[in-house]
Amino acid sequence: MFINKIKSILFVFFLLHFIYLAAEEGMWIPSLLSHYNIDIMQGKGLKLSAEDIYSINQASLKDAVVIYGNGCTGVMVSGEGLFLTNHHCGYSAIQALSSVQNDYLTDGFWAMNRDEELRANNIAVTFLIRIEDVTDAVLAGTGQEVTESQLKDRINQNIRKITSEAIENTHYRALIKPFFYGNEYYMFVYEEYEDVRLVGAPPSSIGSFGADPDNWIWPRHTCDFSLFRVYADKDNKPAVYSTENIPMRPRTFIPISLAGVDEGDFTMVMGYPGTTTLYLTSQAVEMIYKSSLPHKINLREDRMEIMDKYMRESDEIRIRYAAKYKSVSNSWKKWKGVVNGLERVNAVDIKSRQEEEFQTWAESDENRKKLYGNLLNELEDLYSELNKIALVYDYHKECVMATEIFQLFLNLGGMITSIRDKSFEEKMLIKENFLSQSVVFFKNYHQPLDEEIFAKMLQAYEMNIKKEFHPRIFNELQRKYKGNYIVYAQKNFRKSKLVSYGGIAKLLSRYPENERAVIDEIIHDPLYRIFSSFSRIYNEDVRAQYEFLNDKIDREYRLYLKGLREKEPFRMFSSDANFTMRLSYGMVEGYHPSDAVYYHYQTTLDGKLEKFKTGNEDYALPPELVGLYESNDFGKWADCSGKINTCFIASNHTSGGNSGSPVFNADGHLIGLNFDRNWEGTMSDIMYNPEQCRNISVDIRYILFIIDRFAGAGYLIDEMMVIE
Ligand code: ASP
Repeated sequence: MFINKIKSILFVFFLLHFIYLAAEEGMWIPSLLSHYNIDIMQGKGLKLSAEDIYSINQASLKDAVVIYGNGCTGVMVSGEGLFLTNHHCGYSAIQALSSVQNDYLTDGFWAMNRDEELRANNIAVTFLIRIEDVTDAVLAGTGQEVTESQLKDRINQNIRKITSEAIENTHYRALIKPFFYGNEYYMFVYEEYEDVRLVGAPPSSIGSFGADPDNWIWPRHTCDFSLFRVYADKDNKPAVYSTENIPMRPRTFIPISLAGVDEGDFTMVMGYPGTTTLYLTSQAVEMIYKSSLPHKINLREDRMEIMDKYMRESDEIRIRYAAKYKSVSNSWKKWKGVVNGLERVNAVDIKSRQEEEFQTWAESDENRKKLYGNLLNELEDLYSELNKIALVYDYHKECVMATEIFQLFLNLGGMITSIRDKSFEEKMLIKENFLSQSVVFFKNYHQPLDEEIFAKMLQAYEMNIKKEFHPRIFNELQRKYKGNYIVYAQKNFRKSKLVSYGGIAKLLSRYPENERAVIDEIIHDPLYRIFSSFSRIYNEDVRAQYEFLNDKIDREYRLYLKGLREKEPFRMFSSDANFTMRLSYGMVEGYHPSDAVYYHYQTTLDGKLEKFKTGNEDYALPPELVGLYESNDFGKWADCSGKINTCFIASNHTSGGNSGSPVFNADGHLIGLNFDRNWEGTMSDIMYNPEQCRNISVDIRYILFIIDRFAGAGYLIDEMMVIE
């Protein structure tokens, strides 16, 4: 009896210890908090209930957290549609509205009243209506299927039915996503608003302060925010842009706290993390950081060097390429951090040990052995197969398609194949669509830059990819051009009729009347031919096999995850990010980046000025901000010692897509805007390490200081609910 009691006490102790240890890792599904996390979160300081965070019966935090565009998060901060996201998220919208005369990237933009707000084209804002566990309905009738493709078909059929029923007679959109590699399925019902307007953005010297050198780095001083407003029709429903539209009234918006943060404070982030792969095996991790990432890093470096050279040549090219450069360099720098981080923590060894433990567990029971005993071997074989084509796959995406004009050709090719059995009117419509895409494409295009990237990429492909995957053009390149990539690129770009809007429009003006002749001309265009020869290799020898193997790999992971959860029934497993709403919690805390070095959790405007004084161009600041700093009059936006706190770090597990996510304190008030992770922690998409992984946020008081004192747009703060 006594022994049993001790045993159960020890068990509870073990359980708590484990849960607490693992608590900071994970991106949790908000609708499941009441089952899993809420007690732990409250134990760590949270003062809200699960219902305050996610509810379908009352307004809750989830109603204020939105998807911005296709890959970021935003947070509603007023009852009149005003929301915050990152400057780097708003960047393409700001860029699209900029010109050499109105350079909002460099100078910033502030609407001083609603009429001055600028329409942000092609940006939607999406609200989450509800989340539903639909696992049983999605998997209904799947027991009998044998092949992975039959299983997929059945699942897709079920998904179509469930989603269409869910949104019947509504203007909502429903999406079902697999979790734990298809062991579970959840449906997300969304409401999407497309009339979105730019309200304010600081100059890049503030919003992207530190540029590449500081990106993914702590300590940080970037004020990475921009402000937009959602508009709706008079019934508060989504509507296409119209001057008649009025500011949308969200179900709720988030009050802002001026209390600031201290080390150890509870924090929580809600948003849309994009992709993580936390359960990969050691072999997969090794392939990623020893082969795939180093190649991709080199390819991006080459591209960035060329872009940078041209962007320095003229303001016009700089503006055209600013957003593209930023997105290329963002992943480039992150990947470097991932490689360092995984190496530093010996990720492959950690994973191998976990696999050994799993294998021992699986083999210690006959039934388990039958089910799980062979799956790691299977995975190993599959990865060895995948390894034969993985680099070609990467090179197609990162090298071949780095030539921008090929992206347009991809759509052109799609158009050619999709038009065959269409009516004349349909063909006209498809053509018009393609032409409007081309207008947007060429607005941000500079041919000499693309030509140089093309030459560089050909060289990289030829050097690094096995001969069996070389298209025939390389023979010609060697024979006729003696391996001179630059001359080869020049010749083919000059001869092509498809590298300018004028050329494409002229050719298509004869379409659909002279369909055959036009298609013939496209197919025989010298540059299009090169694109096709790469595409053929990719489509015929790589893509199908790559997808086939990945389907099989996913099937093994489905079993692996089932086994892992069975092996540790008391552990809270968090599903990989898949761009659905998640919540992560942790606390404000510093970390040791290396032996004997400790990074404080917070930065101040003092540090920003120190960087500015180095004279480095990435740390340039507008003179007005320097003046404000020197005046030392920060009012209520300063902390109790009179300083402006700029950024802080915390141990919330976040990922790309969490950019622009609200950071809440224990009361559910807004204390910051998440925008990045630290260099040592960028590996957290593959392996989370609580000692090293931190998310970086702008202090909300810094944002308000910039809006109020720097931009003189304090009228916007009057719309917000600020708790002093
Ligand atoms: N700054 C990051 C990004 O742009 C956000 C993150 O990954 O933590 O993706």
